[in-house]
Amino acid sequence: MSTSPIPLLLRQQIIAEFHGRCAYCHTPTAITGARLVIDHIIPEAKGGLTLLENLCLACHACNEFKGAKVKFIDVDSGELVPLFHPRQDIWREHFSWSEDGGEIVGLTPIGRATIAAFNMNHREIIEARRRWVVVGWHPPLEDL
Ligand SMILES: [Zn+2]
Repeated sequence: MSTSPIPLLLRQQIIAEFHGRCAYCHTPTAITGARLVIDHIIPEAKGGLTLLENLCLACHACNEFKGAKVKFIDVDSGELVPLFHPRQDIWREHFSWSEDGGEIVGLTPIGRATIAAFNMNHREIIEARRRWVVVGWHPPLEDL
């Protein structure tokens, strides 16, 4: 979790930049009503600074599962790989949606490791995403 205060203008800039959705799992505030948090991409505990280039928007779940992690095991290769970096990596190159929209699919070691580290496909969120599909709210447009 963030410990440094984030100035209001910087917070607003990050919310706009990430279109009000989690930079990792793409869950939007507009659907859940849950406020997103400002996430240090490189955690403060690992020396990450409170500067725009190290900040993104994240849901509570991704932010809490991430903690101070910067790497995680890719289940396919067994290798320790970096987590997805929302400012350096392109989401659709590492992730896609399952056919029914319920699950995030990892396309690369980084994608698979990040899904596992953040528990991005837990049962409750899969059920919620499937309901969002029914009403046309999901999957999100990836070119936002
Ligand atoms: Zn998330």
